Amino acid sequence: MQSREQIRNIAIIAHVDHGKTTLVDKLLQQSGIFRDHETLQERAMDSNDLERERGITILAKNTAITYKDYLINIVDTPGHADFGGEVERIMKMVDGVLLIVDAYEGCMPQTKFVLRKALEQNLTPTVVVNKIDRPAARPTEVIDEVLDLFIELGASDEQLEFPVVYASALNGTSSLDPEKQDETMQAMYETIIEHIPSPKEKIDEPLQFLVTLMDYNEYLGRIAVGRVNRGVIRQGQSVTVINREGQKKTARIEKLFGFQGLKRIEIEEAGAGDIIAIAGIKDINIGETIADPQNPEALPVLKIDEPTLQMT
Ligand code: GDP
Repeated sequence: MQSREQIRNIAIIAHVDHGKTTLVDKLLQQSGIFRDHETLQERAMDSNDLERERGITILAKNTAITYKDYLINIVDTPGHADFGGEVERIMKMVDGVLLIVDAYEGCMPQTKFVLRKALEQNLTPTVVVNKIDRPAARPTEVIDEVLDLFIELGASDEQLEFPVVYASALNGTSSLDPEKQDETMQAMYETIIEHIPSPKEKIDEPLQFLVTLMDYNEYLGRIAVGRVNRGVIRQGQSVTVINREGQKKTARIEKLFGFQGLKRIEIEEAGAGDIIAIAGIKDINIGETIADPQNPEALPVLKIDEPTLQMT
């Protein structure tokens, strides 16, 4: 199992079009995980048709990047206020967020909406001022706007110390200095590693896993995505599933998956702090806890208020 110190679980939050998809594409490309020809067919975060149709991200998607010896799990978030519950759930699943803001447009309504959710979960966002290549980019003013927004939303002193990276996701460049760009995303990776904490939960405790997102696949059926909150989970293991009403039932973990690039990869076991997908539990739903049968304790009930729940 990967050392917990080498894991970073992050979410990317932004107003639509500020560059989430492009940034994740570049982070993936530069970490050498996917070969060039895959980039076009399988863009990182917007492969969902429905999503394209509506111009917003419907289903949150997971990506994992390896940088040096680190595994960076990235969860995409919907920027739209209709998905407030989902954004909130994702904020509980990660240890840090990247807040992307367009260097020309500055803060927009969805910037405020997603930033509020992150601050409420006591996360200190890393601010990414993106599109620094735009001729009309005004990074210093935009950072002032971002700071004002943090203050308006009641950020703590610690949150006001947010790190800043200036980037052009389009060109694959980044830097800590608004005046010059380095030819790679290295400043971005390094800032993530340095400022976002590693998972702190315990592996040597009874299993708890909170189903945070649902996915579906015709071969695997319902797929529960979430974070192992404590303990270890193994393929083939018997578990207790506790629903939102507190009712318990026994189930078996048929398959476990971790994330690698844009793909899910089958794994034997996962530990506290890992973001994983679980297949084989038929009626599983968002907000349910998967727990150790000897010690079946439910995690706090989650807020659910968006259409994802209607998914079959
Ligand atoms: P998302 O909605 O946040 O996922 O945004 P996208 O990644 O789809 O980007 C929206 C648009 O902005 C696309 O046309 C991108 O090519 C463009 N874009 C993204 N990053 C940059 C950047 O760093 N510089 C410039 N000039 N354009 C960018």
